[in-house]
Amino acid sequence: MSTPTPSPAKPLPIPNTETAPFWDAAREGRLLVQRCRACGEHIFYPRLLCPHCMSDALEWVETSGRGTVYSFTIVHKAPPGFRDEAPYAVGLVDLAEGPRLMTRILADDLDRISVGLPVEVSFTSAGGGIDLPVFRACS
Ligand SMILES: [Zn+2]
Repeated sequence: MSTPTPSPAKPLPIPNTETAPFWDAAREGRLLVQRCRACGEHIFYPRLLCPHCMSDALEWVETSGRGTVYSFTIVHKAPPGFRDEAPYAVGLVDLAEGPRLMTRILADDLDRISVGLPVEVSFTSAGGGIDLPVFRACS
């Protein structure tokens, strides 16, 4: 009789000085993005300079947590660390504020997920003090 192979650990984000405000807010159930004080654009992922006008005058702002599904896929053959969760959906969500982010999309019935579906953020603990934003269909 063989011993089952333990599942490999999932990779976790490692906060740094640029991303710490995002992860700190996620632990509080808030989804932050950066906004450029020079041109007003909202920015995600976190960075030092605005990709629209190159200003370094960036501030953190809380989003509505609402968006729509831009694209998605259903993962049936998951990578190590995620195999126990398959099938699951990952996709690109356009936030109401503009930025597009890659995320897990949760649904009781994965067949309910579609392009253009209104979704809202919630947070799930990934361990190690990291809470990940995920999105599910607006009720
Ligand atoms: Zn800008």
